[in-house]
Amino acid sequence: MTDNQELTQRWQGSLMNNYGTPRLPLVRGEGLKVWDSEGRQYLDFVGGIATNALGHAHPAIVEAVSKQIASLGHISNFFMAEPTVALAERLLQLFGRDGKVFFCNSGAESVEAAFKIGRLTGRTHMVATEGGFHGRTMGALALTGQPAKKTPFLPLPADVTHVPYGDAQALAAAVTEDTALVVIEPIQGENGVVVPPAGYLKAARAITAAKGALLVLDEVQTGIGRTGHWFEYQAHEGVLPDVVTLAKQLGGGLPLGATVAFGRAAELLQPGQHGTTFGGNPVACAAGLAVLDTIENDGLLENVKRQSEKLRDGIESLGHPLVDHVRGAGLLLGIVLTEPLAPQVQKAAQDAGFLVNAPAPDVVRLMPPLNLGDDEVDALLQALPGILGAAEGDG
Ligand code: PMP
Repeated sequence: MTDNQELTQRWQGSLMNNYGTPRLPLVRGEGLKVWDSEGRQYLDFVGGIATNALGHAHPAIVEAVSKQIASLGHISNFFMAEPTVALAERLLQLFGRDGKVFFCNSGAESVEAAFKIGRLTGRTHMVATEGGFHGRTMGALALTGQPAKKTPFLPLPADVTHVPYGDAQALAAAVTEDTALVVIEPIQGENGVVVPPAGYLKAARAITAAKGALLVLDEVQTGIGRTGHWFEYQAHEGVLPDVVTLAKQLGGGLPLGATVAFGRAAELLQPGQHGTTFGGNPVACAAGLAVLDTIENDGLLENVKRQSEKLRDGIESLGHPLVDHVRGAGLLLGIVLTEPLAPQVQKAAQDAGFLVNAPAPDVVRLMPPLNLGDDEVDALLQALPGILGAAEGDG
């Protein structure tokens, strides 16, 4: 029996969150490279589902985390620690607005805090989008617009109207004076990298403002430089959200989420009304600071834009019949296929030494680290025709 097979059996025998399908066992990572237990190397364009902002084992994160765990690991929220405060201040500086930050450990938790802030408006109705994804905890799941993920768990704790994504008219019709919040992803990541029409976020801002509802932007997948802006909404003129939810690459591979609230939304949650033991953990926050510093010092927002264009142009100019077009922003890209062969492309890519992901039957998603290099983009572009051809043969 190989190492890989043995680990698969142990994984299936012991883990509840094994998703039911065999997984590739990875033992080591460095930058974009990862190795499996049999020593095979892959280029990781999944990036821990957009969590590895700087790739694997980045020296700045290793150093920040090592220093912090060696001096002060976890303290409870009876006390306070410098990295937690520093990260909150730094985030607010990047938003360029006064506000308050709630730290937690995941994207779903960051949405739960936004949900509670919504309830504190005194209103209960919420509006979210069809196909949207906000996490698997019960409040976040209620806002999620993917019925298959929700059905086994009904009833869910909210009065939520789901409207078609990108349709400002439908949104305007759904938001009333009883609506506490509207939650929107600036790009729907899990739904297959779906980009809304220009002006959608601006319209959502105007609609919510007119009805006194909070605008919550779920930037768990799009935030922290992923799209070439610190936050994707900053690419849209005239949009100032009331609440932004963050996680994924904020911690650079460590579990770290944040709910950032501005204006009246920042005052709704009173001290003691919400909390979590590990929220604001100094080690995770030290990693967060290292991520933000490195993005800034290494000019990674520019790199994201440059490599995004190179990938997009490179993939589209292959002129391969299986590729319709590439959509998304920055390094959150979806290769839209002309046939529903994304799972086959994922498999063929893995066989060729590239890790990609298939969020929809006809969409292959790329979300590599923000410091992706030219050689790595070239390697994928060179391998793609072979990968697409193998997928077609398999389909
Ligand atoms: N919101 C969005 C937009 C996401 O993409 C995700 C995760 N894919 C979540 C929330 C939930 O995050 P987590 O898995 O960390 O709970």
